[in-house]
Parts: sequence; C-alpha cells; structure tokens
Amino acid sequence: MKVWITKYALSQGILEAEGTQTETPTMIRVRGKNTDLSVYDSYFHKPYWHLSPVDAAEHAKHLVDKKLASLIKQEKKLKKLRRQFDNVTEPVDKCPVCNSDDVRQLPMGGWECRKCDAGITTTP
Ligand SMILES: [Zn+2]
Repeated sequence: MKVWITKYALSQGILEAEGTQTETPTMIRVRGKNTDLSVYDSYFHKPYWHLSPVDAAEHAKHLVDKKLASLIKQEKKLKKLRRQFDNVTEPVDKCPVCNSDDVRQLPMGGWECRKCDAGITTTP
C-alpha cells in the first residue's frame, strides 16, 4: 500500500513509499534499496506514517508548529542571556579624581574610590 512518511518532515519533507502492514497494526515496513542493490527494511510507527497525503501534511504542519514554538522559546532564552553581557564593563584600576588605585567595584554596579569616596561610573 502507498504510504506517506512524516518522520523526516522537518529535514527532508514528506516521503512517499510503498509500505507493508506488519503484525503490529501501528507499525509498517518499508523496503529500501542500497546502491549495491541489496535491500534493507525500515520500520515506521504511528503517527509517523499515513495513508493519505493530506493527513501527512496535517501532521507535518503540527511538527513544524511544535518546532517553531521551541525555537521561539529558545530565542527568548538567548536574548535574556545576551542582555546579561550588556552590563560587562572594563575594570577600573585608578580613581579619576585623586589617582588612587584603592578602588572597589560596588555590588550594584559602578566603582568607588576608598580614598576620596568619589563614585566612578563606567559606560559599557
Ligand atoms: Zn579618589
């Protein structure tokens, strides 16, 4: 029987093949041919094979939607991570007011001179 395979829908698209029913009703066998003409069997399970190309297309669209949702989630995560790198500044080693090297980084960002108490702002 003619079957439409959606297992590789996101990389190769929907594959059309000749499938054979197996003892397991949800599983079919597809015979493939190697370049040396020897044969091999591939097995596909539901829902990755369909008897109608329209059903296969519906499933493929569902797989695309799932992948897109996952990519959008990943994009949000990466953008949040990227924003953290915006707060990185060059280290301050001298006070611009009194030239002392006794400066320390404040936990809330920015630097402070311990000698003259000058606050030192840095721009990323
Ligand atoms: Zn200072």
